Amino acid sequence: MSLIMFASPVVVITPTVRSLTFSSSRRSNYTVMSAVRSEPTSTCSVLTKFQKDCATPIPFLRNVADAISDDMRAGLAVEGGGDLDMILTFVDALPSGNEEGLFYALDLGGTNFRVRSVQLGGKEERVVANESEQFSIPHELMVGTSEELFGFIASKLADFVAKEKPGRFRLEQGRKREIGFTFSFPVKQTSIDSGTLIKWTKGFNVSGMEGKNVVACLNKAMEAHRLDMRVSALVNDGVGTLAGARYWDEDVMVGVILGTGTNACYVEQKNAIPKLQSKFSSGTTIINTEWGGFSKILPRTIFDQEMDEESLNPGEHCHQFLYCFFTVWVWIKLYEKMISGMYLGEIVRRVLLQMCETSDLFGQFVPVKLSTPFALRTEDLCKMQEDNTDDLVTVGSFLHNFLEVEANLKARRRVVEVCDTVVQRGGRLAGAGIVAILEKIEKDTDRMASGQRTVVAMDGALYEKYPQYRRYMQDALVELLGHHLSSHVAIKHTKDVSGLGAALLAATNSIY
Ligand code: ADP
Ligand code: MG
Repeated sequence: MSLIMFASPVVVITPTVRSLTFSSSRRSNYTVMSAVRSEPTSTCSVLTKFQKDCATPIPFLRNVADAISDDMRAGLAVEGGGDLDMILTFVDALPSGNEEGLFYALDLGGTNFRVRSVQLGGKEERVVANESEQFSIPHELMVGTSEELFGFIASKLADFVAKEKPGRFRLEQGRKREIGFTFSFPVKQTSIDSGTLIKWTKGFNVSGMEGKNVVACLNKAMEAHRLDMRVSALVNDGVGTLAGARYWDEDVMVGVILGTGTNACYVEQKNAIPKLQSKFSSGTTIINTEWGGFSKILPRTIFDQEMDEESLNPGEHCHQFLYCFFTVWVWIKLYEKMISGMYLGEIVRRVLLQMCETSDLFGQFVPVKLSTPFALRTEDLCKMQEDNTDDLVTVGSFLHNFLEVEANLKARRRVVEVCDTVVQRGGRLAGAGIVAILEKIEKDTDRMASGQRTVVAMDGALYEKYPQYRRYMQDALVELLGHHLSSHVAIKHTKDVSGLGAALLAATNSIY
């Protein structure tokens, strides 16, 4: 029996040396500095150092892609072999287009959950009817008992099914309604239709569920509501995206999520997965990389370190090591913290705060709002970077509204440069991750070299709504792969297909 232990993440505590001593008098929304700078620093030097620390030139990015590939292989060889968990999803068959019948999707991954019914009509008719409904989860249920949470979900599901219009949706006689359940929390998958919860994240803390089979919890609640349905596939949103995108395009090989968080999954050859230890290892299967856990050789600045140390869940990503005979879980997720939407604004806030405290970004003022963790959102960076006016008017008015400062043009430019540095690093590192996966696929299949189109299905508002991020990611991909191979790669934005994907996986894994 393996012993599961939670070890504290290893943190390197680097003292922040401030070359400034000051006394301050606090006015309403900013602190006025009467600074005695022992060693004055200019905003320019803070910026230059930050840019240098964040730099991702191609030779370095190549090393990152290679290190991710190495960890992918290590994770495929043995459980906990590398930073990437490389979870077996048990999804061996992706949708072909031939699926027929009525299937459901249930999506739980944040503060909302969504139910969906899909009537599939085979290759010609495809999605004949499609209905969905979204419900927000009351906060008390996010931190209550599993009976309360799953009881609530089952009751909404029962209402949804009761409202079904018989003309549009037809369940074949003798069949139960089958569900594809997208559950976007760390899960140890044990079969296509079961998996145990490793740890709640995203504000959920439902008691007594860690280590329990999440499908069994849902089944129990459905039984209590006399709801005759069964979960035929348990997936995460990356797998759902890959499956949903594949339904419309058979060249889709990779699914990537770039939203609040990030993850990627892809089609792998079973004979390239030593840890599968199966005699029947022909064909392909989907691997959920959990790539957010990658933590080697990343350009980690003092601001990243401080953010990690101060965050409520330092290193939320689960990473498994086999250590002697113990299974030790350590929570780190440095890659995710550099590339995903939740953190980009926060890193910029930290840099701006230091620029205010150690130099004169906004004259003598340190806006109080700059001291509030996560006050600056990634959406705000995007808004500022889209300002094409000579005087950066939008940036000026944003800073005025947000921080109550009158920023001169030089300060506005500095702010935009900080945003750009963080977004450039994030986009380029995300590009390196995609290249690592594409090169892994290429090694086993030679598909791109032989001219076959290879599609990366992408979902998430960071990718969708941040053009600069997208461009940096694409540039890195072309620079690393080269023009020849990259000309066969398409990155396709497939918004919200993960629900359809989950329903389709219920169909491909139907018990009937
Ligand atoms: P989730 O990942 O939670 O499913 P989304 O895919 O909607 O959610 O992603 C939300 C994240 O995308 C936000 O946390 C934010 O970081 C980023 N984002 C949302 N809108 C924008 C925008 N206009 N510009 C840049 N980033 C955005
Ligand atoms: Mg999402």
